[in-house]
Amino acid sequence: MKTTTRFDDMRAILAERNRFYADRLRGAGHFEDIPFTTKQQLVDDQAANPPFGTNLTFPIENYTRIHQTSGTAGKPVLWLDTNESWDWWLRCWVEVFKGAGVRAGDRVYVAFSFGPFIGFWAGFEAAQRMGAMAIPGGGQSTEQRLQSIFQREATVLVCTPTYALRLAEVARQQGLDMSRSAIRITVHAGEPGASIPETRRRIQEAFGAKTFDHVGMTEMGAYGFECETQSGLHINEDEFIAEMIDPKTLQPAEEGQKAELVLTNLGRVGMPVIRYRTGDLGVISREPCACGRHWARLIGGVLGRADDMITIRGINVFPSAIENIVRRHPQVLEFAIEVRRQSEMHELHLKVEIEGAPAAVIARLNQEFSDDLRIRASIEQVAYGSLPRFELKSRRLQFVE
Ligand SMILES: [Zn+2]
Repeated sequence: MKTTTRFDDMRAILAERNRFYADRLRGAGHFEDIPFTTKQQLVDDQAANPPFGTNLTFPIENYTRIHQTSGTAGKPVLWLDTNESWDWWLRCWVEVFKGAGVRAGDRVYVAFSFGPFIGFWAGFEAAQRMGAMAIPGGGQSTEQRLQSIFQREATVLVCTPTYALRLAEVARQQGLDMSRSAIRITVHAGEPGASIPETRRRIQEAFGAKTFDHVGMTEMGAYGFECETQSGLHINEDEFIAEMIDPKTLQPAEEGQKAELVLTNLGRVGMPVIRYRTGDLGVISREPCACGRHWARLIGGVLGRADDMITIRGINVFPSAIENIVRRHPQVLEFAIEVRRQSEMHELHLKVEIEGAPAAVIARLNQEFSDDLRIRASIEQVAYGSLPRFELKSRRLQFVE
Protein backbone atom coordinates (compact mmCIF):
# COMPACT_ATOMS: atom_id res chain seq x y z
CA MET A 1 0.00 0.00 0.00
CA LYS A 2 1.48 3.29 -1.10
CA THR A 3 0.87 6.13 1.32
CA THR A 4 1.12 9.77 0.55
CA THR A 5 3.27 12.51 2.00
CA ARG A 6 0.05 13.84 3.49
CA PHE A 7 -0.49 10.66 5.43
CA ASP A 8 3.11 10.57 6.63
CA ASP A 9 2.89 14.21 7.76
CA MET A 10 -0.35 13.48 9.63
CA ARG A 11 1.12 10.36 11.16
CA ALA A 12 4.04 12.32 12.62
CA ILE A 13 1.64 14.77 14.28
CA LEU A 14 -0.65 12.04 15.64
CA ALA A 15 2.22 9.98 17.04
CA GLU A 16 3.12 12.96 19.15
CA ARG A 17 -0.22 14.47 20.11
CA ASN A 18 -3.13 12.07 19.66
CA ARG A 19 -3.60 9.68 22.60
CA PHE A 20 -5.93 7.34 20.71
CA TYR A 21 -3.59 6.83 17.75
CA ALA A 22 -0.13 7.39 19.24
CA ASP A 23 0.38 3.82 20.49
CA ARG A 24 -1.19 2.24 17.43
CA LEU A 25 1.12 4.20 15.16
CA ARG A 26 4.28 3.80 17.22
CA GLY A 27 4.00 0.01 17.18
CA ALA A 28 3.55 -0.16 13.39
CA GLY A 29 6.25 0.09 10.74
CA HIS A 30 4.48 0.15 7.40
CA PHE A 31 1.00 1.48 6.76
CA GLU A 32 -0.43 -2.04 6.53
CA ASP A 33 0.95 -2.88 9.99
CA ILE A 34 -1.28 -0.22 11.58
CA PRO A 35 -4.19 -2.01 13.29
CA PHE A 36 -7.69 -1.50 11.89
CA THR A 37 -9.93 0.94 13.73
CA THR A 38 -13.47 -0.25 14.48
CA LYS A 39 -16.62 1.60 15.45
CA GLN A 40 -16.71 -0.33 18.71
CA GLN A 41 -13.26 0.96 19.67
CA LEU A 42 -14.46 4.52 19.14
CA VAL A 43 -17.59 3.89 21.23
CA ASP A 44 -15.54 2.28 24.01
CA ASP A 45 -12.98 5.07 24.00
CA GLN A 46 -15.65 7.75 24.47
CA ALA A 47 -17.34 5.70 27.18
CA ALA A 48 -14.05 5.34 29.04
CA ASN A 49 -12.99 8.95 28.46
CA PRO A 50 -16.17 11.04 28.39
CA PRO A 51 -17.39 13.05 26.71
CA PHE A 52 -15.16 13.22 23.62
CA GLY A 53 -12.70 10.34 24.04
CA THR A 54 -8.96 10.45 23.38
CA ASN A 55 -8.95 10.78 19.57
CA LEU A 56 -8.16 14.49 19.78
CA THR A 57 -4.98 15.87 18.29
CA PHE A 58 -5.32 19.48 19.44
CA PRO A 59 -6.46 21.29 22.60
CA ILE A 60 -10.25 21.21 22.91
CA GLU A 61 -10.48 24.98 22.25
CA ASN A 62 -9.44 24.35 18.65
CA TYR A 63 -12.65 22.47 17.84
CA THR A 64 -15.53 24.54 16.51
CA ARG A 65 -18.15 22.02 15.42
CA ILE A 66 -19.72 18.97 17.04
CA HIS A 67 -21.89 16.31 15.43
CA GLN A 68 -22.83 12.77 16.28
CA THR A 69 -23.43 9.46 14.54
CA SER A 70 -27.01 8.26 14.20
CA GLY A 71 -26.44 5.55 16.78
CA THR A 72 -28.21 2.95 14.65
CA ALA A 73 -26.08 0.24 16.23
CA GLY A 74 -25.84 1.48 19.80
CA LYS A 75 -24.73 4.67 21.52
CA PRO A 76 -24.00 7.65 19.23
CA VAL A 77 -20.37 8.65 18.83
CA LEU A 78 -19.58 12.37 19.11
CA TRP A 79 -17.35 13.83 16.44
CA LEU A 80 -15.50 17.16 16.58
CA ASP A 81 -14.14 19.32 13.79
CA THR A 82 -11.72 22.20 13.71
CA ASN A 83 -12.20 25.06 11.26
CA GLU A 84 -9.58 23.41 9.10
CA SER A 85 -11.22 19.97 9.09
CA TRP A 86 -14.65 21.47 8.44
CA ASP A 87 -13.16 23.25 5.48
CA TRP A 88 -11.95 19.84 4.30
CA TRP A 89 -15.49 18.42 4.66
CA LEU A 90 -16.79 21.14 2.38
CA ARG A 91 -14.09 20.39 -0.20
CA CYS A 92 -15.17 16.75 -0.22
CA TRP A 93 -18.80 17.77 -0.69
CA VAL A 94 -17.91 20.10 -3.55
CA GLU A 95 -16.62 16.96 -5.33
CA VAL A 96 -20.00 15.29 -4.72
CA PHE A 97 -21.79 18.24 -6.34
CA LYS A 98 -19.30 18.52 -9.19
CA GLY A 99 -19.72 14.81 -9.92
CA ALA A 100 -23.49 15.28 -10.21
CA GLY A 101 -23.10 18.27 -12.51
CA VAL A 102 -24.23 20.94 -10.02
CA ARG A 103 -22.94 24.38 -11.05
CA ALA A 104 -22.66 27.91 -9.73
CA GLY A 105 -26.09 29.47 -10.18
CA ASP A 106 -27.97 26.31 -9.24
CA ARG A 107 -30.43 26.55 -6.35
CA VAL A 108 -29.87 23.71 -3.94
CA TYR A 109 -32.77 22.77 -1.70
CA VAL A 110 -31.66 20.77 1.33
CA ALA A 111 -34.69 18.91 2.73
CA PHE A 112 -33.24 18.14 6.09
CA SER A 113 -33.73 19.20 9.70
CA PHE A 114 -30.43 20.58 10.90
CA GLY A 115 -29.98 18.43 13.98
CA PRO A 116 -26.83 16.91 15.47
CA PHE A 117 -26.35 14.51 12.54
CA ILE A 118 -23.67 15.79 10.21
CA GLY A 119 -25.87 14.67 7.31
CA PHE A 120 -26.34 17.54 4.97
CA TRP A 121 -24.84 20.37 7.04
CA ALA A 122 -21.71 20.10 4.95
CA GLY A 123 -23.68 19.75 1.73
CA PHE A 124 -25.53 22.96 2.53
CA GLU A 125 -22.39 24.98 3.08
CA ALA A 126 -20.60 23.36 0.15
CA ALA A 127 -23.42 24.47 -2.18
CA GLN A 128 -22.81 28.03 -1.09
CA ARG A 129 -19.06 27.63 -1.47
CA MET A 130 -19.39 26.58 -5.11
CA GLY A 131 -21.54 29.57 -5.93
CA ALA A 132 -24.93 27.88 -5.82
CA MET A 133 -27.80 29.26 -3.74
CA ALA A 134 -28.28 27.11 -0.63
CA ILE A 135 -31.96 26.87 0.41
CA PRO A 136 -32.59 25.57 3.94
CA GLY A 137 -35.45 23.09 4.26
CA GLY A 138 -35.36 22.54 8.01
CA GLY A 139 -38.27 23.18 10.38
CA GLN A 140 -40.90 22.71 7.67
CA SER A 141 -43.61 20.18 6.97
CA THR A 142 -43.41 18.11 3.81
CA GLU A 143 -46.19 20.27 2.30
CA GLN A 144 -44.28 23.48 3.06
CA ARG A 145 -41.15 21.99 1.57
CA LEU A 146 -42.97 21.24 -1.67
CA GLN A 147 -44.19 24.83 -1.86
CA SER A 148 -40.69 26.06 -1.15
CA ILE A 149 -39.18 23.94 -3.92
CA PHE A 150 -41.61 25.43 -6.45
CA GLN A 151 -41.57 29.01 -5.22
CA ARG A 152 -37.80 29.30 -4.95
CA GLU A 153 -37.37 27.46 -8.25
CA ALA A 154 -34.93 25.00 -6.74
CA THR A 155 -32.90 23.11 -9.37
CA VAL A 156 -31.17 20.60 -7.08
CA LEU A 157 -32.71 18.52 -4.29
CA VAL A 158 -30.58 17.06 -1.52
CA CYS A 159 -32.19 14.53 0.86
CA THR A 160 -32.33 10.82 1.68
CA PRO A 161 -33.78 8.62 -1.09
CA THR A 162 -36.64 7.65 1.20
CA TYR A 163 -37.52 11.26 1.77
CA ALA A 164 -37.45 12.02 -1.96
CA LEU A 165 -40.11 9.35 -2.41
CA ARG A 166 -42.06 10.82 0.50
CA LEU A 167 -42.00 14.27 -1.13
CA ALA A 168 -43.23 12.71 -4.38
CA GLU A 169 -46.00 10.86 -2.55
CA VAL A 170 -47.32 13.98 -0.82
CA ALA A 171 -46.99 15.98 -4.04
CA ARG A 172 -49.22 13.45 -5.81
CA GLN A 173 -51.82 13.72 -3.07
CA GLN A 174 -51.80 17.49 -3.43
CA GLY A 175 -52.11 17.35 -7.19
CA LEU A 176 -48.58 18.70 -7.70
CA ASP A 177 -46.43 17.28 -10.47
CA MET A 178 -42.82 17.38 -9.30
CA SER A 179 -41.57 16.68 -12.79
CA ARG A 180 -42.83 20.19 -13.65
CA SER A 181 -40.67 21.75 -10.94
CA ALA A 182 -37.25 23.19 -11.84
CA ILE A 183 -35.46 20.28 -10.11
CA ARG A 184 -32.98 18.77 -12.59
CA ILE A 185 -30.64 16.92 -10.22
CA THR A 186 -31.27 15.02 -6.99
CA VAL A 187 -28.38 14.07 -4.68
CA HIS A 188 -28.89 11.44 -2.00
CA ALA A 189 -27.09 9.90 0.92
CA GLY A 190 -27.77 8.27 4.26
CA GLU A 191 -29.06 5.05 2.70
CA PRO A 192 -27.99 3.04 -0.33
CA GLY A 193 -31.33 3.74 -2.07
CA ALA A 194 -30.06 5.94 -4.89
CA SER A 195 -27.80 3.11 -6.06
CA ILE A 196 -30.66 0.58 -5.95
CA PRO A 197 -31.84 0.60 -9.60
CA GLU A 198 -35.58 0.49 -8.93
CA THR A 199 -35.46 3.14 -6.20
CA ARG A 200 -33.39 5.39 -8.44
CA ARG A 201 -35.83 4.92 -11.29
CA ARG A 202 -38.77 5.90 -9.11
CA ILE A 203 -37.10 9.08 -7.88
CA GLN A 204 -36.01 10.05 -11.40
CA GLU A 205 -39.50 9.52 -12.79
CA ALA A 206 -41.19 11.42 -9.97
CA PHE A 207 -38.93 14.47 -10.30
CA GLY A 208 -38.08 14.30 -13.99
CA ALA A 209 -34.49 14.67 -12.84
CA LYS A 210 -31.22 12.77 -12.81
CA THR A 211 -30.61 11.06 -9.48
CA PHE A 212 -27.17 10.70 -7.90
CA ASP A 213 -25.94 8.66 -4.97
CA HIS A 214 -23.24 9.75 -2.58
CA VAL A 215 -21.85 8.08 0.50
CA GLY A 216 -20.26 9.40 3.65
CA MET A 217 -20.03 8.76 7.37
CA THR A 218 -19.95 11.13 10.34
CA GLU A 219 -16.66 9.71 11.56
CA MET A 220 -15.12 9.55 8.08
CA GLY A 221 -16.33 12.27 5.73
CA ALA A 222 -18.06 12.34 2.34
CA TYR A 223 -15.90 9.78 0.62
CA GLY A 224 -17.84 8.57 -2.41
CA PHE A 225 -19.95 10.06 -5.18
CA GLU A 226 -21.24 9.37 -8.66
CA CYS A 227 -20.00 11.13 -11.75
CA GLU A 228 -22.25 11.92 -14.71
CA THR A 229 -21.57 8.53 -16.32
CA GLN A 230 -23.21 6.91 -13.25
CA SER A 231 -21.04 3.83 -13.45
CA GLY A 232 -20.42 3.28 -9.76
CA LEU A 233 -19.44 5.37 -6.75
CA HIS A 234 -16.07 7.05 -7.17
CA ILE A 235 -13.96 7.09 -4.02
CA ASN A 236 -12.29 10.47 -3.58
CA GLU A 237 -8.75 9.14 -3.47
CA ASP A 238 -7.22 12.59 -3.15
CA GLU A 239 -8.68 12.75 0.35
CA PHE A 240 -9.08 9.11 1.40
CA ILE A 241 -6.91 5.99 1.24
CA ALA A 242 -9.12 3.06 0.22
CA GLU A 243 -8.42 -0.61 0.91
CA MET A 244 -10.66 -3.64 0.41
CA ILE A 245 -10.48 -6.54 2.84
CA ASP A 246 -12.19 -9.87 3.27
CA PRO A 247 -14.34 -9.17 6.37
CA LYS A 248 -13.75 -12.71 7.68
CA THR A 249 -9.99 -13.15 7.19
CA LEU A 250 -9.14 -9.41 7.24
CA GLN A 251 -6.75 -10.08 4.37
CA PRO A 252 -6.61 -7.80 1.31
CA ALA A 253 -9.33 -8.68 -1.20
CA GLU A 254 -8.87 -9.09 -4.94
CA GLU A 255 -10.19 -6.49 -7.33
CA GLY A 256 -13.66 -7.61 -8.42
CA GLN A 257 -14.34 -9.53 -5.21
CA LYS A 258 -17.13 -8.44 -2.88
CA ALA A 259 -15.30 -7.08 0.14
CA GLU A 260 -15.37 -4.58 3.00
CA LEU A 261 -14.16 -1.07 2.40
CA VAL A 262 -11.46 0.18 4.79
CA LEU A 263 -10.77 3.91 4.69
CA THR A 264 -8.30 6.43 6.04
CA ASN A 265 -9.13 10.12 5.81
CA LEU A 266 -6.35 12.60 5.15
CA GLY A 267 -7.83 15.99 5.92
CA ARG A 268 -9.23 15.66 9.42
CA VAL A 269 -6.08 15.71 11.48
CA GLY A 270 -7.90 16.97 14.59
CA MET A 271 -10.01 13.79 14.87
CA PRO A 272 -8.99 11.33 12.15
CA VAL A 273 -9.82 7.69 11.44
CA ILE A 274 -7.09 5.42 10.16
CA ARG A 275 -7.69 2.08 8.48
CA TYR A 276 -11.31 2.27 9.56
CA ARG A 277 -13.51 -0.73 8.93
CA THR A 278 -16.52 1.01 7.40
CA GLY A 279 -18.70 -2.12 7.32
CA ASP A 280 -19.66 -1.05 3.77
CA LEU A 281 -19.48 -3.95 1.33
CA GLY A 282 -18.80 -3.47 -2.34
CA VAL A 283 -16.88 -4.48 -5.40
CA ILE A 284 -14.09 -2.14 -6.40
CA SER A 285 -12.89 -1.43 -9.91
CA ARG A 286 -9.79 0.46 -10.96
CA GLU A 287 -10.71 0.50 -14.63
CA PRO A 288 -10.52 4.02 -16.05
CA CYS A 289 -13.86 5.84 -16.01
CA ALA A 290 -15.27 7.60 -19.08
CA CYS A 291 -15.47 10.81 -17.03
CA GLY A 292 -11.67 10.98 -16.93
CA ARG A 293 -11.33 10.56 -13.16
CA HIS A 294 -8.70 8.02 -12.19
CA TRP A 295 -10.29 7.30 -8.80
CA ALA A 296 -11.46 3.77 -7.96
CA ARG A 297 -15.17 3.01 -8.19
CA LEU A 298 -17.52 0.87 -6.13
CA ILE A 299 -19.51 -0.84 -8.86
CA GLY A 300 -23.24 -0.64 -8.10
CA GLY A 301 -22.55 1.50 -5.02
CA VAL A 302 -22.43 0.17 -1.48
CA LEU A 303 -23.99 -3.28 -1.84
CA GLY A 304 -24.81 -3.68 1.82
CA ARG A 305 -23.43 -3.44 5.31
CA ALA A 306 -21.43 -6.28 6.77
CA ASP A 307 -23.79 -6.18 9.74
CA ASP A 308 -27.15 -6.00 7.95
CA MET A 309 -27.06 -9.18 5.92
CA ILE A 310 -29.93 -11.48 6.87
CA THR A 311 -30.14 -15.21 6.43
CA ILE A 312 -33.54 -16.57 5.47
CA ARG A 313 -33.61 -20.36 5.59
CA GLY A 314 -29.97 -20.59 4.67
CA ILE A 315 -30.06 -17.95 1.92
CA ASN A 316 -28.11 -14.75 2.51
CA VAL A 317 -29.98 -11.60 1.51
CA PHE A 318 -29.25 -7.91 1.83
CA PRO A 319 -32.20 -5.61 2.57
CA SER A 320 -31.21 -3.60 -0.53
CA ALA A 321 -32.03 -6.62 -2.73
CA ILE A 322 -35.49 -6.79 -1.15
CA GLU A 323 -35.95 -3.06 -1.66
CA ASN A 324 -35.00 -3.38 -5.32
CA ILE A 325 -37.88 -5.81 -5.83
CA VAL A 326 -40.43 -3.88 -3.77
CA ARG A 327 -39.69 -0.63 -5.61
CA ARG A 328 -40.55 -2.17 -8.97
CA HIS A 329 -44.16 -1.84 -7.94
CA PRO A 330 -45.41 1.74 -7.92
CA GLN A 331 -48.54 0.58 -6.06
CA VAL A 332 -46.39 -0.11 -2.99
CA LEU A 333 -46.17 3.24 -1.21
CA GLU A 334 -44.11 2.19 1.81
CA PHE A 335 -42.78 -1.01 3.27
CA ALA A 336 -41.05 -2.52 6.31
CA ILE A 337 -39.08 -5.74 6.64
CA GLU A 338 -39.43 -7.91 9.70
CA VAL A 339 -37.19 -10.86 10.30
CA ARG A 340 -39.03 -13.20 12.64
CA ARG A 341 -37.32 -15.98 14.46
CA GLN A 342 -39.22 -19.25 14.40
CA SER A 343 -37.62 -22.31 15.97
CA GLU A 344 -34.03 -21.44 15.04
CA MET A 345 -35.03 -20.29 11.56
CA HIS A 346 -35.49 -16.76 10.32
CA GLU A 347 -38.63 -15.96 8.39
CA LEU A 348 -39.12 -12.88 6.27
CA HIS A 349 -42.25 -10.86 6.91
CA LEU A 350 -42.97 -7.89 4.71
CA LYS A 351 -45.43 -5.17 5.63
CA VAL A 352 -46.65 -3.13 2.68
CA GLU A 353 -48.91 -0.18 2.11
CA ILE A 354 -50.57 -0.78 -1.26
CA GLU A 355 -52.61 1.58 -3.39
CA GLY A 356 -55.39 -0.07 -5.39
CA ALA A 357 -55.92 -3.82 -5.67
CA PRO A 358 -53.46 -5.57 -3.39
CA ALA A 359 -53.91 -9.23 -4.33
CA ALA A 360 -52.20 -9.01 -7.72
CA VAL A 361 -49.28 -6.98 -6.33
CA ILE A 362 -48.75 -9.42 -3.47
CA ALA A 363 -48.82 -12.37 -5.86
CA ARG A 364 -46.20 -10.72 -8.08
CA LEU A 365 -43.98 -9.86 -5.11
CA ASN A 366 -44.13 -13.47 -3.95
CA GLN A 367 -43.17 -14.66 -7.42
CA GLU A 368 -40.25 -12.23 -7.70
CA PHE A 369 -38.86 -13.04 -4.24
CA SER A 370 -38.92 -16.67 -5.22
CA ASP A 371 -37.48 -16.20 -8.75
CA ASP A 372 -34.86 -13.53 -8.04
CA LEU A 373 -33.77 -14.19 -4.46
CA ARG A 374 -34.89 -17.79 -3.92
CA ILE A 375 -36.62 -16.80 -0.68
CA ARG A 376 -40.19 -16.82 0.51
CA ALA A 377 -41.85 -14.06 2.45
CA SER A 378 -45.14 -13.65 4.21
CA ILE A 379 -46.61 -10.41 2.95
CA GLU A 380 -49.06 -8.38 4.97
CA GLN A 381 -51.00 -5.42 3.69
CA VAL A 382 -51.22 -2.65 6.30
CA ALA A 383 -53.32 0.51 6.35
CA TYR A 384 -52.16 3.57 4.42
CA GLY A 385 -50.01 5.82 6.61
CA SER A 386 -49.37 3.20 9.29
CA LEU A 387 -45.67 2.72 8.46
CA PRO A 388 -43.15 5.43 9.40
CA ARG A 389 -41.93 7.94 6.79
CA PHE A 390 -38.28 8.69 7.41
CA GLU A 391 -36.54 11.99 6.93
CA LEU A 392 -33.19 10.79 8.28
CA LYS A 393 -31.70 7.35 7.77
CA SER A 394 -34.60 4.94 7.40
CA ARG A 395 -34.97 1.93 9.67
CA ARG A 396 -37.05 -0.48 7.64
CA LEU A 397 -35.42 -3.67 8.90
CA GLN A 398 -36.46 -5.04 12.25
CA PHE A 399 -35.65 -8.27 14.03
CA VAL A 400 -38.55 -9.74 15.94
CA GLU A 401 -37.73 -12.53 18.39
ZN1 LIG B 1 -16.46 8.66 -13.49
